[in-house]
Amino acid sequence: ILQIIRIVKNKKESSSPAASSPIDAGHIMLSAALIASGILIYKLWKQNKQQKELILIDHLTELSNRRGFDESLDIAINEAFKEKGRQVALLMVDIDYFKKVNDNFGHRAGDEVLKNIATVLRKLVRKGNTIARYGGEEFTVILSGTSLTKASMIAERIRRAIAEIKFGNERISVTVSIGVSVFVSDCGYKDSLTKQEIEKMKAMMDKEAEGLVKRADAALYVAKNTGRNRVF
Ligand code: GH3
Ligand code: MG
Ligand code: MG
Repeated sequence: ILQIIRIVKNKKESSSPAASSPIDAGHIMLSAALIASGILIYKLWKQNKQQKELILIDHLTELSNRRGFDESLDIAINEAFKEKGRQVALLMVDIDYFKKVNDNFGHRAGDEVLKNIATVLRKLVRKGNTIARYGGEEFTVILSGTSLTKASMIAERIRRAIAEIKFGNERISVTVSIGVSVFVSDCGYKDSLTKQEIEKMKAMMDKEAEGLVKRADAALYVAKNTGRNRVF
């Protein structure tokens, strides 16, 4: 665009016959072609980005899906590895006796409950943290830079809010059980690592991410087995 403005301006300023020579017309055509290809490249890039984002989203709740969760957790753990003492907390939220909701009110009503729970989570979790639909009626929340105590408080707020809300035109009550776990970084790696060191570090990060999920899952199991509608 700037190029066209410049050419038109030059053309106006110069009163010589050369100003309207075929070279100028060629310049304008070339600039227009460049702009058109620029726009096309931008559109393709945007489309590609949107498609990539879509495969990380759960269609029902519009939260991250399992794949989106995995990617976000990797990023969160990677960030924590750069700063000794940095914490990443994880909540695993599972609806209690959800099968009964489907049995009593139908699958569609069950879907509505899932969507409403996603809305509650979005309201209670600060922006920037990942909320995911981890499985059927199971959600996860990644809380970067959050201690176990703080994460447990957030989990308790979520548990209480869901227990108090009535879904599906005030007909359906559900409760959730929540497992909480935390990872505390004990290293502060720099970006100037060798390829070999990066590989080693990546393996350690994968192990930590896996451990964090396993511990949240184990905590959820305890919450379920000690009466449900609780945080552990
Ligand atoms: P628990 O307290 O032990 O978690 O009991 P539960 O009934 O919630 O757990 P269970 O694993 O036995 O059943 C999960 C139910 O979630 C069964 C399945 O039909 C339902 N479910 C999973 N995904 C969806 C979904 O996308 N929509 C609906 N409506 N139901 C779903
Ligand atoms: Mg359940
Ligand atoms: Mg479950």
